[in-house]
Amino acid sequence: MAEIDLQKIVSHCKEYGFIFPSSEIYDNLGAVYDYGPFGVELKNHIKEYWWKSMVQMHENIVGLDSAIFMHPTTWKASGHVDSFSDPLIDNKDSKKRYRADVLLEEKIDKLKEKGEKELAKKNLSAASEEEKAKASRDYAKGLTLEAEYTKAAEASDFKRYKELIEEYEIACEVSGSKNWTDVRQFNLMFGTKLGAVDEDATDLYLRPETAQGIFVNFLNVQKTARMKVPFGIAQIGKAFRNEIVARQFIFRMREFEQMEMQFFVRPGSELEWFAKWKETRMKWHLALGTAPENLRFHVHEKLAHYANAAEDIQFKFPIGFKELEGIHSRTDFDLTEHQKFSGKKLQYFDSELNQNYVPYVIETSIGLDRMFLRVMSECLMEEALENGETRTVLRLPAALAPIKVAILPLIKKDGLPEKAREIMDVLKFVGRTFYEEKDSIGKRYRRMDALGTPFCITVDHQTLEDNTVTIRERDTMQQDRIAIADIEKIVGAKIDMNNLLRKAI
Ligand code: ATP
Repeated sequence: MAEIDLQKIVSHCKEYGFIFPSSEIYDNLGAVYDYGPFGVELKNHIKEYWWKSMVQMHENIVGLDSAIFMHPTTWKASGHVDSFSDPLIDNKDSKKRYRADVLLEEKIDKLKEKGEKELAKKNLSAASEEEKAKASRDYAKGLTLEAEYTKAAEASDFKRYKELIEEYEIACEVSGSKNWTDVRQFNLMFGTKLGAVDEDATDLYLRPETAQGIFVNFLNVQKTARMKVPFGIAQIGKAFRNEIVARQFIFRMREFEQMEMQFFVRPGSELEWFAKWKETRMKWHLALGTAPENLRFHVHEKLAHYANAAEDIQFKFPIGFKELEGIHSRTDFDLTEHQKFSGKKLQYFDSELNQNYVPYVIETSIGLDRMFLRVMSECLMEEALENGETRTVLRLPAALAPIKVAILPLIKKDGLPEKAREIMDVLKFVGRTFYEEKDSIGKRYRRMDALGTPFCITVDHQTLEDNTVTIRERDTMQQDRIAIADIEKIVGAKIDMNNLLRKAI
């Protein structure tokens, strides 16, 4: 099976109507994308999978859909105005801008990877860090840089970032030079204005995360939904970040969608819940049939100011292992800050303890677009067939597939199209159907493979005689003759979202 790289995914998404660059006729808008007819269906199914597993399957989690605009003080309280920024550095020769933290992290990875290769040759891959450092200069250098970088990150010492970039001779990939500016902090929030007259207008931000809408509604939700701690609030919605380094398709976008859940717990029980949510979320990811070696936990080296534990679930994207979802123990930071800035109490009365407190929070936060990229990365394949041809197939779990069943009359006459449409009228109640009569049947099958359609139904002359059709399964390419009356049952059983949900929870 051929390796699929990011470029192949980008062109597949464009060619088959999954994702288009934004405003393409005006030469695109950087790091902004539009989902096409099949992309929006797949995206909606991913949302459905998340929503049902988080909200429908948990009686103590309820949903919310809060507005994108929020009172500007929200972002003062959350810390985003003062500290939601990236450390940027420019190469003076190419004028190319980089994130200084990313340059350093990539250098650490490169040194360690180079070292690992050397160590593998010496059969020392399983040795202790100390032995590894002794046996490989590159590995030792990687470890030292990691320790230095972590220290600088903890102290937010950006002068030190630049010194490390220079000491470790990191060069610009465009100019090849090591001629760097100082590191500067750049706030990632997009600003806008509310009001018609410029002088009277209020400065607003486009939310950089959906979580704050949940925090400010904590009591509204708790009271109206009659929730008792521990309970969660889940939300799916758009978020906006003025990302500077945005070159990886939908991995890093300026407008994207998050699926977040904030789980409110008794103070002191948060680390237990943190462990539980880590396990629950990993199970959700694995239920899609992913090879376990493509998913891993990554412990944060530097904790955010509000967190007392944080790990990411990383997925092996074509660009390497990268963050897909964050699981954070956010303490009582957000609710306490909103109490302070709003002057309103955000406390919960625990009748069992007969006590008032500000709950602690465990957050699970996943990017819907990153999840889309993950699904594409693992399901898009190029397979060599026995006849020497290759087929491009999108092996999506059937519950996520944009089209569930394609109805294909063998030829465009003799009453076959009419019979096909009759079948479609029944099947449209089961899931999204697609009718196609153009091109040879083989070509039509290939197109449906590339779109990830789990079943194709072919209507031929025999259908008119005995009410049977050929059903072709995408993954095995096996074709069977079945009665029209049985299609609904066979297709319905395979595309049922419950197949995934039963494994996920
Ligand atoms: P990164 O380190 O990759 O910038 P982050 O740690 O800033 O991500 P969080 O603030 O924890 O990300 O956001 C939660 C999730 O939202 C991430 O795990 C990711 O899936 C998604 N996400 C964050 N930023 C973007 C973006 N610019 N484009 C697409 N998805 C994003």
